Amino acid sequence: MSLDEVFLSLQHAIDRLVRRLRRGATPPRTERRFLVIQVDGLSRAVLEHALAARRMPFLRRLLERHRYQLQPMVVGLPTSTPAFQLAAMYGVRPDIPGFHYYHRGWRMDIHFPRRGHAALVEAEQAAGRCGILSGGSAYGCVFTGGAENNFFSLAMLTQPTGRGVACALSAFVVLVWAVAKSVGQTLVELARAMLRLAAHPMASSRGWRWLTIKIGMSVWVRNLFTLAVSRDLYAGSPAVYVNYLDYDVAAHAFGPRSGPALRALRHVDGAIRQLWRVARRVPGHRYDIYIIADHGQASCTPYRDLTEGQRLERWIFDTLLDASRAGTPQARPQSGLAGGMRARRREVTGLFQHFLNYLEEDFLRRSDPEAHQQDGVRVIAAGPNAFLYVLDVTAPLDADALEHRFPGLAEALARSRGVGFVLARSANGPLCFWRGKRYHLRESDPGPFAGRADAALVVRAIADLMMMPSAGDLVIYGIDAPTGHVSFIPERGAHAGPSPEEMHTFIVHPAEVSLPSPIRHPIQLYDHFIRYQQLSEERHDVPGGVQAAESIGATAYDGPKP
Ligand SMILES: [Zn+2]
Repeated sequence: MSLDEVFLSLQHAIDRLVRRLRRGATPPRTERRFLVIQVDGLSRAVLEHALAARRMPFLRRLLERHRYQLQPMVVGLPTSTPAFQLAAMYGVRPDIPGFHYYHRGWRMDIHFPRRGHAALVEAEQAAGRCGILSGGSAYGCVFTGGAENNFFSLAMLTQPTGRGVACALSAFVVLVWAVAKSVGQTLVELARAMLRLAAHPMASSRGWRWLTIKIGMSVWVRNLFTLAVSRDLYAGSPAVYVNYLDYDVAAHAFGPRSGPALRALRHVDGAIRQLWRVARRVPGHRYDIYIIADHGQASCTPYRDLTEGQRLERWIFDTLLDASRAGTPQARPQSGLAGGMRARRREVTGLFQHFLNYLEEDFLRRSDPEAHQQDGVRVIAAGPNAFLYVLDVTAPLDADALEHRFPGLAEALARSRGVGFVLARSANGPLCFWRGKRYHLRESDPGPFAGRADAALVVRAIADLMMMPSAGDLVIYGIDAPTGHVSFIPERGAHAGPSPEEMHTFIVHPAEVSLPSPIRHPIQLYDHFIRYQQLSEERHDVPGGVQAAESIGATAYDGPKP
């Protein structure tokens, strides 16, 4: 028995005591529950490489010996966590064109690392929807999915009843162990860094920054998540969604197939093993475990490396837009409108997500916003994608209206260095400017994407993207630039675009569970996972509910099998 397990069983014993204090029963055996383990940023191609190279030995064992299956999944555009999670958690078509964009209605930027922005978007777009995590837990996610517990809930610590204290104590046991373990692993990482420094005294500041990130993300956050989820599994939480960010962060910094990124996968594999073992120890809770990825990453070159430090969001103004009309830059349109709309109860997640995202933003990216505004035009660089907005209109302009204001802009952009293609709207669907040529995209005539086996899916995803009111009047991609993929922010791995590595991911699931097939958009996951909520309600309302509960899988699934 590992020390993790000792602490978890101690915590489990306290939880049983809590139940006795309440004189309540253990959760009913018939209740089916799910655990989603998201490996942020892992494409199917890199997963297959990692499995073959035995970088994820436990996941490989699940597939080979424990009747788990790998199903391909296509995630739609943008290939970005917030868009994926909103669709999967609430079953809505998101209006989230990227990780950083402009909201025309609120006249402000939405940038997910900023505090409260995720809660604003969730409150607006998921209003009235039942989330797949109602009554459950979410860790490291952009949105709550309706989860009650978004980390160690504060309410639990502010109600000093006998039960409350025991609950807090239970959480505390896990917390203390997570801290002790993380301190230990931090010391190991520091000792290793010291040895490396002794060997290479010229170690760059990048090495030290990466060490901080690695300790923050890979040691503290991962340990805390794994133990908190273990605790939820013992307690029988109805729905748990945990997002491990280790791989995504490493892949952004060093590339999707780099050594640090593949090493991060091994750590995540260890976390999957631990959670699977915990689920096996409580077969009565009947957890179905899913391992999924929200998007992949494309290996890329930073735009500034191609352009002697030039930034796209400046260069457009300096070179392409009418220089004679250039005035002084206007203030960023951050208004106080947002203030009243904040969903207070989601503050805890907001805070925590804020911390996670800032770890990434502060260490890997410049902290100044990648946006520039001049003469009523705002350009935002969000990753391998950038948006151009004309600010004096409330609805997106189509290509003709834009051509009228800025003749030749889209073609010139599409021909410029570091740009793969530029998207615009028309009355008959999306337009794509590719190497200076204009294509009308149709599923039957996918223009520059014709060479791809999944061309129809790409066209559909682009059509979805350009239907989003918040997508720029022009959407500029560095993906498929003539010199290879390019990101407009400083990173070696990027996502948001339609390259196969970004769009094609996977879902690993127990063979007994049948999923919609093929999965071409994360919205299909909602239909699957919301069944757990609906069935649990039916069971409590209707005497025949127990039979209905068996209909998630093709056949009844009786808990994890040995
Ligand atoms: Zn990412």
